[in-house]
Amino acid sequence: MKTIGLLGGMSWQSTLAYYRAINEATHAALGGLHSAKIVMYSVDFEQIAVLQQQGDWQATTKILIEAAQNVQSAGAELLLICTNTMHKVAPQIEAAIDIPLLHIADTTAEAAITDNAGTLGLLGTAFTMEEDFYTARLREKHGLKVLVPNRQDRQIIHDVIYQELCVGIVSHRSKTHYLRIIESLARQGAVAVILGCTEIGLLVNQSDTGVRLLDTAHIHAQKAVDWALNIA
Ligand code: GLU
Repeated sequence: MKTIGLLGGMSWQSTLAYYRAINEATHAALGGLHSAKIVMYSVDFEQIAVLQQQGDWQATTKILIEAAQNVQSAGAELLLICTNTMHKVAPQIEAAIDIPLLHIADTTAEAAITDNAGTLGLLGTAFTMEEDFYTARLREKHGLKVLVPNRQDRQIIHDVIYQELCVGIVSHRSKTHYLRIIESLARQGAVAVILGCTEIGLLVNQSDTGVRLLDTAHIHAQKAVDWALNIA
């Protein structure tokens, strides 16, 4: 079994889900008392979120490169950045380490392709929905079509992530908004909807809707386990 490296804390709520999912998938594959070999560096998310708001991506890159190098030095053989948003600086992190980086958009795209879902809705932070680093990768590298919610709904999704989910608040009102937006994307032609923020799985899951959901945190975690156990 190989050692999985996690760059976590963005937020720690979703890192908990990663930790659980990776260990559960390892146990499901190997049985007994097996659990995953994991090295984790968990950042102080307040610091990252403030820099995101200021648009100081260079400073976030510096923090994450140092953290990734620490994960590598501690023995990790693969790196996962446990957030979609901070994949904005994934190329710089990847260039600063020697171990492979498992890109969350690539694992999600593979899952979509396996599901025959060529047109996808995308929910995530404003950075993920509106900038190119994520959607362009899905479109250009994987040939997928991506639909994002309208401006007002993007704002709702973004605010719920930072004001509620990242601090562990799960509200019925927000869930209703998310499900309405998911269904609207499906009506516009999305065959599946990407939960493109690693906390969204705290709020909605597949049992809440008939629309196929692609939970990036779970897909990413499962792929890491497949890689660690050499079944990828
Ligand atoms: N975990 C979230 C994501 O997947 C948002 C937090 C962040 O800004 O990193 O995008």
